[in-house]
Amino acid sequence: MGSYYIWTIGCQMNVADSERLGAHLERLGFQAAQAPEAADILVVNSCVVRQHAEDRVANKLHALRPLKRKNPNAVIALMGCMVGPKTEDLQHRFPHVDVFMRPQVYDPLLEVARERADLASCQDEGPVVPNPTGPTAFVPVIKGCDEFCTFCIVPYRRGRQVSRPSEEIVAEVRALAERGVREVTLLGQTVDAYGLDLRGQPDLADLLTELNGIDGLARLRFLTSHPRYMTRKLIRAVADLDKVCEHINVPFQAGDDDVLQAMRRTYTRDEYRRLIADIREAMPEAGLSTDVIVGFPGETDEQFQRTVDLLEEVRFDVVHVAAYSVRPGTIAARKLSDDLPKDVKQARLRQVEQLQEGIAAGINAALVGREVEVLVEKRDALGNWEGRTRTHKLVHFPAGVSDLRGELVTVTITRASAWSLQGELVAVG
Ligand code: SF4
Repeated sequence: MGSYYIWTIGCQMNVADSERLGAHLERLGFQAAQAPEAADILVVNSCVVRQHAEDRVANKLHALRPLKRKNPNAVIALMGCMVGPKTEDLQHRFPHVDVFMRPQVYDPLLEVARERADLASCQDEGPVVPNPTGPTAFVPVIKGCDEFCTFCIVPYRRGRQVSRPSEEIVAEVRALAERGVREVTLLGQTVDAYGLDLRGQPDLADLLTELNGIDGLARLRFLTSHPRYMTRKLIRAVADLDKVCEHINVPFQAGDDDVLQAMRRTYTRDEYRRLIADIREAMPEAGLSTDVIVGFPGETDEQFQRTVDLLEEVRFDVVHVAAYSVRPGTIAARKLSDDLPKDVKQARLRQVEQLQEGIAAGINAALVGREVEVLVEKRDALGNWEGRTRTHKLVHFPAGVSDLRGELVTVTITRASAWSLQGELVAVG
């Protein structure tokens, strides 16, 4: 029986894509290998959103070269955002790669896999649902992106926004719940644009309402939102539906209107602030996270300071910050000059990181002494239980004898840092 190994880097969507490809290969009778050396099919699922990620992908592909020399029959595939419509350059750089696949386009590899499959091990056709690896799962609900933010390569690699029919999603989430999944995160590059391209335009709030009724499922989340699609109806749904967690990731990217316009983000600083006020009015204790880019072309000290001011004003639970790097093929790469010195970008990056560390430490310290609901996901490196609150905070607590994986438990928080909480188990269920 053949085997496969998938190496994944990047966002949760890439993780979900890898799981889905794995499910397709398993349907053809292939089994997951523990190490690349043991696999007949090796897949690198790539990310090029930042230079650092792209460098890691290139290193990984180079590292597979000796393996291909040793085992010429092994199939090496490159998937994900590194693969555009043209692959000549990639073929030249990585001649040992056999198959190139754009994000979520699995067929080129599946055709090769079918030729090698042991027909006796193939399973019936029908919807492909990845086997859950724990009590939480990702479910893509909309692929692609229509936004074309000037710094971002995603729309060129993942294509236009296409929503999955809601019946298909409901069936998948029900199947996952039947297999023991307690928490599902709905994924999309602009997840809150879900349904705009479907007949009748069922939106994300409608989808969450349907999913909220699935037996066995305890929690629902969604990632990543775009401020312009975050409606009052959706905020109300998050506040009212008991299984939908009070946790919203809504990137603002920059705090200055001119920079936002140069990024083509389609909202202003004040519109973003009003959105946060609406969320906080509906859910005063919602967990909020955001993405920020510093050192965008032409960003002045004053413009950067407006980003810092917004971070201080909103006080997010989590901030994902990146220094701008040119992504070939984007509008910014074609039209804007990457004019800020590297040391200026790095200094701004560090300033945001330090500011956020202090803010997160303060928010988390206020939870000490309080009881929180935790969905237990796994044991951590020290053997303690690890899980997350509804607001997506990481919690560790000492393990007793019973297996708590997949249980909803109550934990009293005893210690806090900027990154996680420690606690004591109070009750199970
Ligand atoms: S919304 Fe903007 S940043 Fe997000 S995936 Fe689309 S183009 Fe990229």
